[in-house]
This record gives sequence, structure tokens and C-alpha cells, in this order.
Amino acid sequence: MRQPVLFVGHGSPMNAIEDNAFRREWQRLGQLLPRPRAILVVSAHWETQGVAVTASAQPRTIHDFGGFPPELHAAQYPAPGDPALALRVAELLAPETVVQDSRWGLDHGAWSVLLPMFPAADIPVVQLSLARDHDGPWHYNLAQRLAPLRDEGVLILASGDMVHNLALLRWPLDKAEPWAERMQTQFNQWLVAGDHVPLQHVDRLGHEARLAIPTPEHYLPLLYALALQTDEDELSLFNDTVLGSLSMTSVLLQTKTTQSFRQAI
Ligand code: ZN
Repeated sequence: MRQPVLFVGHGSPMNAIEDNAFRREWQRLGQLLPRPRAILVVSAHWETQGVAVTASAQPRTIHDFGGFPPELHAAQYPAPGDPALALRVAELLAPETVVQDSRWGLDHGAWSVLLPMFPAADIPVVQLSLARDHDGPWHYNLAQRLAPLRDEGVLILASGDMVHNLALLRWPLDKAEPWAERMQTQFNQWLVAGDHVPLQHVDRLGHEARLAIPTPEHYLPLLYALALQTDEDELSLFNDTVLGSLSMTSVLLQTKTTQSFRQAI
């Protein structure tokens, strides 16, 4: 069975442990999606010079944030790694050089979503880094080479936030900034239409796009998911909410023949 592909808007690290509608949706998906053999995560929180994958057999849980309650700092996600999958990713991405990295583990872009989604932590997880200083089409083209993994039982989970401007975050978060709402609406229109060209060139979209994407790392994971969309996939949006200057909008891609869980979205 071909695995689905996910882009998840991860929002606050507290979503890992705090009961809310976003986390409940992650829990539900974990129960509804076909169980993968392994998970490849592309997280906003691991940027490198060149491309790297986690090669450790036991990746550590990285608490790459500060100022949160002790229970979040104590949270662990002890999923095994998958060194063979890390080598397979390097093989697929060739001739791009892919560093086998044994120092990085699972950052909160990965585990804050995986903990609610697959709480048993018994599915191997590998992370793929975001290479700095490349444009949208470069990332999209690179990600297309990962397509065979879907038929090898690997769930590709991209984790970021399409709209992500922490400098402009104002409380209460239940009120979306108008520009953030407009940008997310535009992104959604292109997503639903399957129009990936403008989504690869958000740097050309002007002032409101620059407010939505002041730095590229939370947006780029989306391109890793979209690059794997085929004509056989249907796209569903979930957690489609803008919180102030941050969007939780998420994307599920799944083949039409394996959409038994689609009705639940
Ligand atoms: Zn983040």
C-alpha cells in the first residue's frame, strides 16, 4: 500500500502534551493512517550546510526550546532510528551528497507531532535536514527523488508552519492577523488547485508573503510534501486555523485507492 504524505503545522511545542483540537487531530490520524514501516521527518528545526540525515540507531530527544514547563522538557520520544533507511535516502538523493549524521536526534518539530500521533514510539524515525541557502524549486526537485519511499512503507512527515512570524505574535492568539489569514487563504487555493509553481516561489509574492515567511525554514517543509503528490493522490486540509501570525494548516496526501480514513478528516 502506498503511504500517505503529511505536512503538519506544528505550532507551539506545548501541542506535544497539551490537550487541544490540533493535538486531538494528530492523535486521530495516528489511529486512522496505515501503519508505516518507518517515518522520514523533514523538520523546520534542523537546518544544515548541505543535506544530512540522522544515522543513529537510537536518536535522542532534543528539547530545542526554552521557557516551557518541566513536563515538556522531560518529555521523551524513544523511537529507534533506522540507519538502513538513512542510507537509502542518501542513495535516492544522489548525486546530492548526504551526510550520515550521528549527533542530531529528533527535534521538537518531529517529536512534538509524533508523540501524540504514534505514542508507542515503536516505529523507526529518520530525520532529513533542510539545506540552507537554496530556493524553493531546489528543495522541491530534491524532494521528488524521495518518491519511491512511499511504496517502501515509509511515511514522509514534513513539519513546519506555512505562516510563521513569531516577532509579530500578539495575544490573544484566537484572532488571526488579517494579512496572515489572506496569505493562508491564498496558499490553500493553490494547494486545492494543485498549483505548485507559485508555492515554490513565495519569495516573489510581495509584502504580505514576507510577513508570513520572514525566514524560510518553517515554510520549506511544505514543498517536501507537495513534491511527492501524484495524480493518484487526493489532498485534504486539516487543522486549518490561523493563530495570530502563525498558521496550523496541515495537508494530507493519499492515494484515492487507500483513502479509508479520509472521511474522518
Ligand atoms: Zn517550529
